[in-house]
Amino acid sequence: MAPNKSLLNPEQRKADIELLASEEFDILVIGGGVVGSGIALDAAARGLKVALVESDDFASGTSSRSSKLIHGGLRYLEQFDFKLVREALHEREMMITEQAPHLVKPLSFVYPLHKKYLDRIYVGAGLMLYDLLRGKLRAVPWHKHISFGEMRNEARSLNPEIVTGGLVYYDAQVDDARHTVMVARTAKDYGAHIVTGATVTQITRTPDRVTGAIVAVDGHSFNVKSKVVVAAAGIWNEELYQQFGIKPGYKIKMSKGVHIILPKDAIDAKTGIIIKTSLSVLFIIPWGNEWLLGTTDTDYTGDREYPVADSADIDYILNEANKVLLPKIRREQILSTYAGLRPLVSPAKDSSTTKISREHTVDHPVKGFVSIAGGKYTTYRVMAADAVDAAVKDLDKSSPKSSTKSIALIGAAGYSTLMKQIASLAQSYSVSTACVERMLNRYGSLVSDIFQTIAKDASLAEEILPGAGYLKAEALYAVSHEGARTLVDVLARRLRLAMETSDHGLSVAQEIAELIAPTLEWKKADIKREVAAFGKYVATEMAAI
Ligand SMILES: Cc1cc2nc3c(=O)[nH]c(=O)nc-3n(C[C@H](O)[C@H](O)[C@H](O)COP(=O)(O)OP(=O)(O)OC[C@H]3O[C@@H](n4cnc5c(N)ncnc54)[C@H](O)[C@@H]3O)c2cc1C
Repeated sequence: MAPNKSLLNPEQRKADIELLASEEFDILVIGGGVVGSGIALDAAARGLKVALVESDDFASGTSSRSSKLIHGGLRYLEQFDFKLVREALHEREMMITEQAPHLVKPLSFVYPLHKKYLDRIYVGAGLMLYDLLRGKLRAVPWHKHISFGEMRNEARSLNPEIVTGGLVYYDAQVDDARHTVMVARTAKDYGAHIVTGATVTQITRTPDRVTGAIVAVDGHSFNVKSKVVVAAAGIWNEELYQQFGIKPGYKIKMSKGVHIILPKDAIDAKTGIIIKTSLSVLFIIPWGNEWLLGTTDTDYTGDREYPVADSADIDYILNEANKVLLPKIRREQILSTYAGLRPLVSPAKDSSTTKISREHTVDHPVKGFVSIAGGKYTTYRVMAADAVDAAVKDLDKSSPKSSTKSIALIGAAGYSTLMKQIASLAQSYSVSTACVERMLNRYGSLVSDIFQTIAKDASLAEEILPGAGYLKAEALYAVSHEGARTLVDVLARRLRLAMETSDHGLSVAQEIAELIAPTLEWKKADIKREVAAFGKYVATEMAAI
């Protein structure tokens, strides 16, 4: 069997650390969020020699803390930003149909109307435009108008005293952290060298250009030689400019966005709900056995590492949702919360080095150094292509154009065929059809890796927490294939036990730490440290509730 080139695990990490220390790269990417991972994929697919370093885990920054929507952004229509909406909708359609159909799923929303006629004309025209802007691909159905009775059928929890009817429209959703890892694995598959738990502390330079960076890994530092360094560190980019002594071409303002998670029975609806608020919009989003409600939008100047929800954030979301929900949702129903920081980018007044687009900014202030920030999850691929286009100008060779439009993420090839074989797969792997379907929608055609592990050890087919849906085999897979290095990586990002259950995974932390310990070469003291660190993570994240 051919070696699996997309593996991210301790062995691969060790090999890539050695390579980073000894070879010269065309591009060194700082940051393993969706944008950095996308840049690594874009550059590797152009045949460039690429390294990526991430100081914590894939998607440990903003990329695991979004609303998890792949969308054009209805509210940008109100700001007449048609170009931006069109671009994002086009990306949405490509992700659903070709690039990541196993991960990006269409999702319907109802838009409740209060005034019978005026609202319907205004919102209907907006949604008509929204559907038209997506272009030729037709991955999701056209929007439609629905009556009061149909609205009651779709979302019984909407207060019938104030809702007169509505519209249904479609966007898409994704598990952002899972998707980012799949982008990184696809980059690895194309030949990128990737090391997490590796922090860029400084750049190296000659008088006329940047020549690489100093990277700190596992308690020691070394020089990584690279013709271009690309900073894709989101909200950390500003800090990097300061550290490197380079004048930035833009300013980053951080805005905190909070979500709360409720159990499915808290809201009676068959679909997502979008509510217009005085400031923006609030989404009520179906998420497996739960609902995600958010988000807030408040200026933030605190710690970048651990943004957390506070009481005022939760009050805001409850108040806004309860303007339309009946029965009202209550604070004590909240399972968990999470907060993320949006990198909002504005150009520096006297900058001539930035290329501004409404959503993201590419800055190329010094030869050998490029940075990118802003944008949204949905447009990561376009951002990545723009960043690499800027970077290749400093290479002493020509480079082909971006090809990521036609690159399917790993797990996408063969997914739709496998979806038609659920019953036979369930039979051959001796698991339920529901289990096969769930696994296909998390791993796509890589699902056989999980089931082969189970075939060798049937105990790995057990659920980690009964009812939560995650198998023990998935925890093992997270460390053997998906680059998870800590218990937090496994329980909070590869699996979502920390946010989806009232237990937050605490009751199984010791057991899962022991399960993954051999792969990560953990001794007893390491297991103890990891369980304690996970406990601390949960306590910090859930402080507001
Ligand atoms: C509340 C909220 C809701 C959102 N909802 C949506 C949505 O529904 N749809 C949508 O399209 N977009 C959404 N967004 C926007 C989207 O999440 C972000 O635009 C996107 O995730 C940013 O990705 P990134 O890779 O630029 O940054 P990040 O994900 O933050 O990645 C930066 C990485 O750089 C690493 N790093 C930092 N410093 C260093 C260093 N010195 N060395 C090495 N690594 C370093 C960090 O650890 C981090 O992992 C939302 C954002 C927020 C906050």
